[in-house]
Amino acid sequence: MKDLYSGLDAWRHIAESTSRRESVESYLPLILSAAGAFGVLPFMVLRYMQGSWIAAVVDTVIVVGFTALGIYVYRTRRVRFASIAISIFCIAGVLTTVYIIGPQQIYWVYPGLIAVFYLLRPQEAIVLVMITTGALFPKLIGHVDSHSSITILITITVMSAFAFAFSLVTSRQREQLILLATKDPLTGAGNRRHFDNKLTEMVRTKQRTQTPASIILLDLDHFKMVNDVHGHAVGDQILRSVTEIINLRIRVTDSLYRIGGEEFVVALEGQDINDAAHLAEQLRTLVEANELAPDQSVTISSGVAELKADESWKEWLHRADQALYEAKRSGRNSTHVSD
Ligand code: GH3
Ligand code: MG
Ligand code: MG
Repeated sequence: MKDLYSGLDAWRHIAESTSRRESVESYLPLILSAAGAFGVLPFMVLRYMQGSWIAAVVDTVIVVGFTALGIYVYRTRRVRFASIAISIFCIAGVLTTVYIIGPQQIYWVYPGLIAVFYLLRPQEAIVLVMITTGALFPKLIGHVDSHSSITILITITVMSAFAFAFSLVTSRQREQLILLATKDPLTGAGNRRHFDNKLTEMVRTKQRTQTPASIILLDLDHFKMVNDVHGHAVGDQILRSVTEIINLRIRVTDSLYRIGGEEFVVALEGQDINDAAHLAEQLRTLVEANELAPDQSVTISSGVAELKADESWKEWLHRADQALYEAKRSGRNSTHVSD
């Protein structure tokens, strides 16, 4: 029985249902910059009413800065840059208020450092914690009684240790999630979802820069029979070996995806149809020469297509699919090029 998600139809289903999803990455810097701006705003108003002009100016700079950074993230979605900028701004804001207004402002260091752990990588955040604590030190010693100074330092350390552990676990889980979301678990090749993003991106790049882009759609020949004769475990091992053979041969700018049970795609950026056809032939002979199953030849057939100007990904993939069909029809263990 053919499984529900094998082949191009399943891939198309996934591509269509996920390609327009919005990134949630920018939510955190947006929320933190909004919290920063709204958190300091009442104090800013209070300072103006009290006539504490220096403190009022500091608070105004902080409120305006957070608002500007929030707008920047919202407009550009450049999350990494904004996260670094917001972190530095947070810490600079805390230190400035402690230095200008006085050590009673030390309470702001806690939300400031927590924000840093949310925004930066754990190791980066810990470095910033050390810098902040070192910078606060001269303002505590001699200005605050020693009992309070020690309490402040210990609470910062304990809070940072908790935040560091939490941030470490979260970033590991995030790495795992990205791996699960983009890699095929059996072979380690990119999965269909990843392929969707890649193909969409390649079509966009072509429209912008006119650089060539090609795909090789390849399918193992008579793989059902290989499974029937040698068993599913051997079949799985063959799929892993084919992946390894292809990965060893392609360039770093090329990428490999498993888009169906025994169907793969090699996406070739900057390569025209001649380069792609040449590579497809090399892959075909390599797979055959590796004699992956005992007493039975394991071969592949490929359909090759170069992206045409103004062509959609659907049309492009369809041409590669048609070419693969021709390769199968002409007896398998062959490469067919779409014109
Ligand atoms: P063709 O040359 O026309 O492509 O013939 P085929 O037998 O390769 O094609 P068909 O689509 O009839 O069968 C594909 C087979 O691939 C069916 C299934 O047993 C096998 N297959 C699909 N996914 C996996 C997998 O994850 N592991 C293993 N071992 N086999 C798989
Ligand atoms: Mg097959
Ligand atoms: Mg197939």
